[in-house]
Amino acid sequence: MSGPETSPPEPESGHSLGEGEASGPALDRLQEKAQACRRCALRQGCRQVVFGVGNPRARLMLVGEGPGGDEDRQGIPFVGRAGQLLDRILEAARIKRDQVYITNVVKCRPPNNRLPVQQEVEACLPYLRTQIELIDPEIVICLGSLATKTLIDKNASITRSRGSWHKIGSRNYMATFHPAALLRDPGKKRYVWEDFQEVIKVCNKSDQGGAVDE
Ligand code: SF4
Repeated sequence: MSGPETSPPEPESGHSLGEGEASGPALDRLQEKAQACRRCALRQGCRQVVFGVGNPRARLMLVGEGPGGDEDRQGIPFVGRAGQLLDRILEAARIKRDQVYITNVVKCRPPNNRLPVQQEVEACLPYLRTQIELIDPEIVICLGSLATKTLIDKNASITRSRGSWHKIGSRNYMATFHPAALLRDPGKKRYVWEDFQEVIKVCNKSDQGGAVDE
């Protein structure tokens, strides 16, 4: 794993944002496996497994912490207040939800919305790693500290890690604050917007115009 990079990575050609093909069936099979999963105790306290949603060939993947109450009820990640804020951020960045793939580090809701413990993260991580392999996104945005520590560096601090590119293998990772943190501290919104601007730069063939490839 290499350290943070200040300059944005070059965009790759031939894999436009949200191009839909292959990988879907394999992702479906993985989802079926997750639905039947009992690898950790979280499954006992939740209504359903919230696997992930979006384009199975997305160029951009977003990873949060774990499902909350609304997500647990609906079976879809990021549909509560934090999800609505994420929708507004994506909309402002001219990125459509169906162009990206959205999931969490753990697929079952932790009780009382607590953070998942390490044992739960490790139990669930094979699903996330396989999702990343199958979807093969060019860019992964880690939303919040847990996703950042899980996917970028276990010793990372979200405050220090955000805003820089982290190249791991062939993929570019960007850490930014979780939308729930923005609800608690709206002052962080400008940092998240800066981070998404960086992402847009890479998604675009050019910095000119500010539009994401569609
Ligand atoms: S959180 Fe992950 S590992 Fe734990 S039961 Fe749910 S799907 Fe399985």
